[in-house]
Amino acid sequence: MIIFQYCPLCARSLTTKRVERRDRLTCISCGWINYKNPLPAAACLAVNKQKEILLVKRGIEPYKGEWSLPGGFMEMNESPEKAAERELKEETGIKGVASDIVGVIVHPSKIYGSILVVGVMFKVIKGTPRPGSDAMETAFYGLNDLPPIPIRTHSELLKRFVEQFKS
Ligand SMILES: [Zn+2]
Repeated sequence: MIIFQYCPLCARSLTTKRVERRDRLTCISCGWINYKNPLPAAACLAVNKQKEILLVKRGIEPYKGEWSLPGGFMEMNESPEKAAERELKEETGIKGVASDIVGVIVHPSKIYGSILVVGVMFKVIKGTPRPGSDAMETAFYGLNDLPPIPIRTHSELLKRFVEQFKS
């Protein structure tokens, strides 16, 4: 997480002040306030005709070598659905059409401070999975036969998805 020492607008040293019920770095010279907000990401919940879910083995840190849902950070002016469709294609080679939001989870992150993960379900997927540049492997898993998924937001979204999917 970036910690500012100097004002990015006028380069003065920053001071901590109580603003809107939180301690925030502020610039006494120009009034800039370092508001901190969660970073939005999308995670993909894509199942094939056999009702198996698509997972990726991460090729980059954090959680390198561990299974996760395909996904990544949203770009500027991108909807969660569009971000999920783009990440699905980039990480697994699968083209998909997003449908519903399964859930939204906010989780603390050492690197980013706080991440807001939107779980996006797919109604149609097409293609054969092949790992993209950020993935070591990609595969479909039966919902009753899942490998360990150590990213808490992803395992929680998957749990919610399975509950909705089975009902
Ligand atoms: Zn300033």
